[in-house]
Amino acid sequence: MRLKKIKLVGFKSFVDPTSLPLPSNRMAIVGPNGCGKSNIIDAVRWVMGESSAKHLRGDSMADVIFNGSTSRKPVGQCSVELVFDNSKGNLGGQYAAYNEIAIKRQVSRDGQSCYFLNGARCRRRDITDIFLGTGLGPRSYAIIEQGMISRLIEAKPEELRVFLEEAAGISKYKERRRETENR
Ligand code: ATP
Ligand code: MG
Repeated sequence: MRLKKIKLVGFKSFVDPTSLPLPSNRMAIVGPNGCGKSNIIDAVRWVMGESSAKHLRGDSMADVIFNGSTSRKPVGQCSVELVFDNSKGNLGGQYAAYNEIAIKRQVSRDGQSCYFLNGARCRRRDITDIFLGTGLGPRSYAIIEQGMISRLIEAKPEELRVFLEEAAGISKYKERRRETENR
């Protein structure tokens, strides 16, 4: 599954609707300090279900919504959509028939997040389930940020094991077992 587009509306500094095409497997985003490079990564984490404001470099979850600038008023809601190419059917099962998988998260200042899968309202869990065991996800090793390499090198064996289990694809089954045991 390849990420081919990121669409942002009202997310952090991206107040106007912005569509970022990712036409190749290798891309670089460059720009001056504060232009919004890291905000794009925050958007990717957020749409995949990140629920910690701290991990999105904010104090509260509403900090992901554009909060105004010298020339623009704050907005009331934001959304981010990731469009994945699934033409090779990498995501099988009920999703195999879709050439494109679009996941979207939307939130307003006063409300809960809403999630959408190919335009249809879904639960947060439906989104996190898609990524479980693929190596992608809000806290996954697919996103290597500053300081993460040294955190990995210094990780305790049990912390390292979480990454290895995700890479081996067994974290999904462990999660299922945990759920069954808790029922
Ligand atoms: P650097 O090169 O320093 O890492 P960067 O390109 O990664 O910079 P970001 O951290 O993505 O920059 O963007 C920071 C900018 O985003 C700041 O100007 C900040 O004011 C703006 N910003 C963050 N959250 C919001 C928000 N909720 N509303 C409006 N602007 C925001
Ligand atoms: Mg940055």
